[in-house]
Amino acid sequence: MISRCYKCGHLILLNPHIVYPGVEKGSFEITGAKKLCESCTSKIRDDTHAKEFADISICIKEKRFDDGIKIIQSIFNKDSDSHWYNLGNLYNSKLQLSDALDCYENALLLNTHYIKAWFRKGTILYGLSKLQDVEKLKDAVQCFKNILLLDPENKHLWNNASTFFIALCSISIHNRYFQDGKDTTQTNQEVQKWVSLNLNNKYPSDLAKDLKNYLAGKVGRELLNSLIDWWFLNHKKILDALEPKIGDINLYTDENHAIERVYVIPENTKIPDNFSKRSEIQYFNEGNEFTKHGKFEEAVASFDKALDINPNIAEAWGNRGIILRKLGRNREALDSYDKAIDIYPNYVLVWYNRGVLLGMLGRYSEALASYDKAIAIYPKSPDAWNNRGDALNNLGRYTEALTSCDNAINLNPNYALVWDTRGVALSGLGRLNDAIASFDKALAIKPDYAIAKQNREIALKKLT
Ligand SMILES: [Zn+2]
Repeated sequence: MISRCYKCGHLILLNPHIVYPGVEKGSFEITGAKKLCESCTSKIRDDTHAKEFADISICIKEKRFDDGIKIIQSIFNKDSDSHWYNLGNLYNSKLQLSDALDCYENALLLNTHYIKAWFRKGTILYGLSKLQDVEKLKDAVQCFKNILLLDPENKHLWNNASTFFIALCSISIHNRYFQDGKDTTQTNQEVQKWVSLNLNNKYPSDLAKDLKNYLAGKVGRELLNSLIDWWFLNHKKILDALEPKIGDINLYTDENHAIERVYVIPENTKIPDNFSKRSEIQYFNEGNEFTKHGKFEEAVASFDKALDINPNIAEAWGNRGIILRKLGRNREALDSYDKAIDIYPNYVLVWYNRGVLLGMLGRYSEALASYDKAIAIYPKSPDAWNNRGDALNNLGRYTEALTSCDNAINLNPNYALVWDTRGVALSGLGRLNDAIASFDKALAIKPDYAIAKQNREIALKKLT
């Protein structure tokens, strides 16, 4: 089949070069393929400036951005999408964001399939919006949507998208702490810091709702719709991208199936000096420090001080609950958890810890309900599935317990506790050989696991 070059109109005989020129600068449209003849292709390709580009990367490495710009300008080809892209990166490094944006738009005008340029453009717009400028945010979303269209598995995008959504989500969390009106002027950067503070326990499974609350109040319906639709389509991937950043810190281990999880502010997070309520964060951190050293009374006092200043710190109520449980003040511990959940209904760690407490008190149906809630919010915690299995075992619901354990094992096959819980379920079902195999597995992972040894003995006795 004979075709013509879209640019010069010459006939193309074989192997045409495919390009995707844009309609106009600044447009978000992803265009269809057009064919280019060899002569036109050679004008936009750049195979001849390898040395200059090597020098440019050295300039970038050494932060000599102006030198880099000089080099690229000396060889600049305005028909080359990659020249525009590289120039954009140099401006971007110098924080000349509007110049960078202009370059990326030129690159995208030449090639609407330039994923890296969409990514850079989206990131710049996102930054420039400071989470306040609706139009810029909408445009940023559109850039990310375009990447998704061109490359649905794009890893870069998912990482960025997760940060983007979490940042928005975190504003609502953040605003709970700063109800004196200062919150609306917090910059993007400060919000990002709060993001890192909140990532450890604010699993974003209900992000759409938080976003909705935030956006409905402050940014407007149009943006809301474009974000929410996208969120619903892609939340699973966004969560997967986030997963490596989600890690709760395990301070308490109890061999008896109960591991409580405590929320701490990560050590490398610097609390900004200008935070108006620095003291509540200090008391909160102090409470965690006391906890670490087994000074539980002092820890409770510190959490109380933080809560006197600001009763809306769900994290303080949550961690306080753990300490009260340690002190045997179970009723107060439960109240403290309930308080945390009142403030933040999707506080998965608290639902989880509440389950641990209720399980210890022998209130297994309530423990089960708590774990169900934790799992509904965040289904990827092997601990929650294991403890849920334990509650079900105690209720004599062994088949369900077994399923729960298998879910935990799918998430972490080297989790000794769950092999023990699973053994108990199998014993309950009368499958004693399978039970012993499961206890063996637990002991292979954790040879000094006393309860598993004991349970294995019991199963063995039943068998003979
Ligand atoms: Zn041509």
